[in-house]
Amino acid sequence: MTALRMSNDGPFATGIWHLQVSGQTVRHSDGSFSRLPSIAGEVDDHDVRPNLHTEEPVDLFEYQGKEFFAQYGMPISPGEIAFSVDEAVAAAERLGTPVMVKAQVHAGGRGKAGGVKFAADIDAVREHAGNILGLDIKGLIVHRVWIEKASDIAEEYYASFTLDRSAKLHLGMLSKEGGVEIETVAEENPDAIAKIHVNPVDGLSEQMVRDWIAAAGLPDAAVEGSVDILQKLYTAYVEGDADMVEINPLILTPEGDVHVLDAKVTLDGNSVFRHPDYAQYDETQTRDEREEAAHAKGLQYVGLEGSVGVIANGAGLAMSTVDVVNQVGGKPANFLDIGGGANADVMAGALEVINNDPNVKAIFINIFGGITRGEEVAEGIIEAMKRVSIDSPIVIRLDGTNAQQGRDMLAPHLSDDLMMETTMLSAAEKAVALATR
Ligand code: ADP
Ligand code: MG
Repeated sequence: MTALRMSNDGPFATGIWHLQVSGQTVRHSDGSFSRLPSIAGEVDDHDVRPNLHTEEPVDLFEYQGKEFFAQYGMPISPGEIAFSVDEAVAAAERLGTPVMVKAQVHAGGRGKAGGVKFAADIDAVREHAGNILGLDIKGLIVHRVWIEKASDIAEEYYASFTLDRSAKLHLGMLSKEGGVEIETVAEENPDAIAKIHVNPVDGLSEQMVRDWIAAAGLPDAAVEGSVDILQKLYTAYVEGDADMVEINPLILTPEGDVHVLDAKVTLDGNSVFRHPDYAQYDETQTRDEREEAAHAKGLQYVGLEGSVGVIANGAGLAMSTVDVVNQVGGKPANFLDIGGGANADVMAGALEVINNDPNVKAIFINIFGGITRGEEVAEGIIEAMKRVSIDSPIVIRLDGTNAQQGRDMLAPHLSDDLMMETTMLSAAEKAVALATR
């Protein structure tokens, strides 16, 4: 199943939508979750379709995004990646100065943060690479820089495609006010963004692109180059199974060339099975430590800010659990879906990950047995409790198939550290009370 990540910039951020969407899970700006209509209504789909997983979105660094775009024939600048000052210097010597030294982190606004610098000569490359490597940009440390040929810029534009879920159509955005964050344009000058909805069945015709460019008011000199790039951008977005592709800026050079100068790409993690090469991006994903540990155990986990650790089986139930914790006045520490089987290995792994989160003051295990029967769940919990020692009290709600047998098995193990409630609401109330006492 899962999930989501708040992006720091791009059209998913606050200005335009209030949702961050991925896979089949939606996180609202207040931290609650909801599920998309395609699977809504099935209480425990994990049991019905045990192999259905919605994976995390895959964020690319700028240079990875540019390599992705280049595969679809878009013009990008020659460049090389460097992990050290010496590598940066060597890259600049091969490319020939002037170059740009560009921090590679999963955040926009790198330029403003001092992470994008012009270097006229090799000494400047050395200086800038030295300053940028190790720099903290929005809480992300720069470990690699992209050295690329510097371009002359006449104008900077903005272009992107993403999915407009409420319209059930692709949404393209184009603006001649590029180079600044699109949220700023959306706030200060919304008319400067030309939007286009594309029905995925019909696709995007050249004429639609021409009309769109005219609506955005791009100058004549930029039209032909933009027609070409925007069509390729759409193809990359669709065929590459991206959730979002953004070029900011798309530039017009004084010579009249239109060119990609920045790339922000988020791929749909669910599509990896048909793009084996996307496996290469796994190691460059930014996860917090908790998410890293959970990911290593194969758990579907998203870190949140609160004090109630949540374990549930199935994406829908996990989201509802997060919601109900919020509803009774608590704050969930995480979203964690253990999937279909609640065996001891998975349960122990989940408890361990949650226990390592210092914010957690109580743990709420919410299991609805479907194909997985209550006694198997109880067995898994009892066995897991033997393997890991947990610092916070646990509240269990076990319902569904053979729930009573499971509860009977758990009964002798109950204590002040392991409690049971029969309803989801009462269990949430208990967990929240324990977390806030
Ligand atoms: P960010 O959006 O994270 O700030 P960009 O890649 O968009 O990073 O770079 C910021 C600005 O730096 C661009 O808007 C552009 O003006 C300039 N810039 C980036 N790459 C180049 C390049 N290769 N040549 C010239 N200017 C560049
Ligand atoms: Mg940019």
